[in-house]
Amino acid sequence: MPVIVDPDLCNGCYNSKQPPCVRMCPGDLIVKDFQTNQAYLKYVDDCWDCLPCVKACPEEAIRFQLSYQMGFYNASLQPHVHKDRQHITWTSVDCNGKVEEFQIRTKVLPVALDEKIEGETTPDFSI
Ligand code: SF4
Ligand code: SF4
Repeated sequence: MPVIVDPDLCNGCYNSKQPPCVRMCPGDLIVKDFQTNQAYLKYVDDCWDCLPCVKACPEEAIRFQLSYQMGFYNASLQPHVHKDRQHITWTSVDCNGKVEEFQIRTKVLPVALDEKIEGETTPDFSI
């Protein structure tokens, strides 16, 4: 199942031309629509659920919809990257709406909102 960008949470990373979700997708499947100032998964069928886009989003606007074997439509996973960037709390929602949280130790490097262009300063919105 593909990831989903929540339009109520995505702020387009302000005026970022290449927001973290776009930059982190190894398949270039996510694009930013500059008309709406929001990102979306353009190539849904090609998404292979590797999840760096989900973890890189500073607004927690992308959630991973679990496959039908694990719950189908309503089941999802949403990460919350802790400030120390050494832990993630994952919120899982199963197909009956039951919410569970579990924390794992990991390492998540901050992703700048845009690639650094020489002579240009990039604001750091990392948590
Ligand atoms: S990283 Fe998150 S908030 Fe930024 S454009 Fe992508 S989905 Fe939207
Ligand atoms: S889950 Fe992986 S392949 Fe799918 S959109 Fe995110 S980064 Fe790209």
